[in-house]
Amino acid sequence: MQLKTVCARCGHVLREGDEADGPVSHGLCLHCLPDVHDVHVEHWEHLPQEVFDSLPYGVIRLDEGGNVIAYNLAQSGLSRREPARTLGRNFFLDVAPCTNVHELVGWFEEAKRIGHAPLKTVRFLFAFPHGMQYVRLSLAFNGYDRTTTIVVDVIQEEEDDE
Ligand SMILES: [Zn+2]
Repeated sequence: MQLKTVCARCGHVLREGDEADGPVSHGLCLHCLPDVHDVHVEHWEHLPQEVFDSLPYGVIRLDEGGNVIAYNLAQSGLSRREPARTLGRNFFLDVAPCTNVHELVGWFEEAKRIGHAPLKTVRFLFAFPHGMQYVRLSLAFNGYDRTTTIVVDVIQEEEDDE
């Protein structure tokens, strides 16, 4: 099986190949870690929570079953949800049912089936509990640990015509 990890925000290839050992990437390239470029961590689990929370965009991590295993402060601010209330819950079914569409869930299922997938980026009208908001959703599948990382960037009004 061809394994691959790409940056969850820009799609830059971080690691590919079938070797079982080797560095495990945390799934964001250094370009996409603007505020923490001096922090070199190899895996999400090594990323201090304060660094995770300092990222200027929302990050949600899912296990293979689609359940939330990490939820950063920016995303908590966007959704106005306490991270503790999302952990362990199914992202597509319980946390963000507006994302339970074939374009996203189909990508997720296919990524798990073949072990890798290109970065999936969609402009999406996200139904937050407090209202609708255009966001750019980027989904990256990490073939090495079979987690999925979702980055949520709010699209400002002036970008609406892009
Ligand atoms: Zn990147």
